[in-house]
Amino acid sequence: MQYDFDLYVIGAGSGGVRAARFAAGFGARVAVAESRYLGGTCVNVGCVPKKLLVYGAHYREDFAHAAAYGWGLEAPRFDWATLIANKNAEIERLNGIYRKLLVNAGVALHEGHARILGPHQVEVAGQRYSCERILIATGGWPQIPDIPGKEHAISSNEAFFLEHLPERVIVVGGGYIAVEFAGIFHGLGARTSLVYRRDLFLRGFDGSVRTHLRDELNKKGVALKFNSDITRIDKHSDGSLLVTFADGSSEFTDCVFYATGRRPYLDNLGLENTAVALDERGFVEVDEHYQTAEPSILALGDVIGRVQLTPVATAEGMAVARRLFKPEEFRPVDYAHIPTAVFSQPAIGTVGLTEEQAREQGYAINVFETTFRPMKLTLTDDPERILMKLVVDRASDRVLGCHMVGPEAGELIQGMAVALKAGATKQVFDATIGVHPTAAEEFVTLRSVTRQ
Ligand code: FAD
Ligand code: NDP
Repeated sequence: MQYDFDLYVIGAGSGGVRAARFAAGFGARVAVAESRYLGGTCVNVGCVPKKLLVYGAHYREDFAHAAAYGWGLEAPRFDWATLIANKNAEIERLNGIYRKLLVNAGVALHEGHARILGPHQVEVAGQRYSCERILIATGGWPQIPDIPGKEHAISSNEAFFLEHLPERVIVVGGGYIAVEFAGIFHGLGARTSLVYRRDLFLRGFDGSVRTHLRDELNKKGVALKFNSDITRIDKHSDGSLLVTFADGSSEFTDCVFYATGRRPYLDNLGLENTAVALDERGFVEVDEHYQTAEPSILALGDVIGRVQLTPVATAEGMAVARRLFKPEEFRPVDYAHIPTAVFSQPAIGTVGLTEEQAREQGYAINVFETTFRPMKLTLTDDPERILMKLVVDRASDRVLGCHMVGPEAGELIQGMAVALKAGATKQVFDATIGVHPTAAEEFVTLRSVTRQ
């Protein structure tokens, strides 16, 4: 039977675009449907605009530091509207680039919501298309707990388009988005608190990283409220929000921002017309080849709920395209040693095992850890400190984990990920000559064991 397309991709986000472009490049007839924005979450309401806001927020400290270097500045003024307008213009430019990438690769772009009618049929904007295979790459959506007044709260989707910078913000959650946006709002000048339900945020990250970031945020004046949760939000006639906490206390604010995780985006997708199964968390269940329970349907990226990061979604997209249309070049995605950065202020960079994971997995380890002031701050009175840490397997001398909190931690950790992926031992780190004067050189000069 002749289908309209060999592959029908639903969702032009990180994973979908990569799969579509590569598949078309390998000679497949490919279409991609996109209901909202080309480039998906990352480009429109995720990584890219977030990083631009982080840059924007960091200027506050940069201006303060400049004075110690002899620069006289008039009191700097911040204009939210300018930042958002410039950010929007950049995102529009990127949307255009994504459109060109797809069109130039020969992918048919269907703008509209796609609904699956059957294992080989998709409907978009009233048109039906037949296809040999369907790839679900529909990503995720913020989830806000069901509390009275949740309609007064915002998520990251809205935060990027607020008309004004709120004077007071309460950020709820203890994951990536919560700590990143607490830094953004605080840096831009909002009175910011972060409310997290357990005793320390960033569960799953290395313990030293978590406590170091807690201490740095405390020093900067972000109000951290751990073991705390919001039970209701009431809007007052002047527009302010009265937030009530589980312990009965309450507080007025101008914005409640929930960053409490993301659910798979499967709304009105038509999965009931297929045999696609969901796992116990509601994400699409796939095997090691991203194959769902329906033989003609695959899924990847955030919607399968494995590792919700852009480079992982794109790697999965490439793997799917290669396996289906260029099997001789197929390489499975290697989920070991995925480096990641949290663009908090200061930032976190991490790869490999945390100290806690290494111990749980039965390794006898040496821990090398140091904190110090960034050289750039030595002329200033900014008390921020850098944390660097290596977790080393005592038996093999292999570096199992590498963790940092400090400026440019995201940039630095990429190189460390290559070293860990290559199986570098502590001896290899020690034999590597440092780059002086940098913070990074500390990673090759860590000599004394902090803990065993
Ligand atoms: P998405 O990029 O979400 O793309 C899915 C697309 O499918 C969307 O465009 C959606 O409109 C479309 N779609 C959904 N349903 C349909 C339908 N039925 N028909 C047609 N189209 C449909 N990751 C990092 O690596 N680094 C970061 O710094 C980072 N920062 C982030 C910051 C925030 C605030 C958020 C929310 C996420 C961030 N992420 C970051 C995560 C990253 O954005 C995601 O992991 C990545 O975008 C997942 O890609 P995806 O292709 O699975 O889905
Ligand atoms: P995360 O899963 O990272 O964190 C969710 C947080 O919300 C956790 O602290 C969790 O607490 C808390 N939480 C969950 N449910 C509730 C609830 N009902 N009440 C109170 N708190 C709750 O999700 P994010 O939304 O921060 O980000 C989603 C994903 O996007 C990330 O996991 C990451 O993969 C990706 N991302 C990556 C970024 C990067 O690479 N820099 C940046 C932003 C996002 P608990 O710990 O108790 O479970």
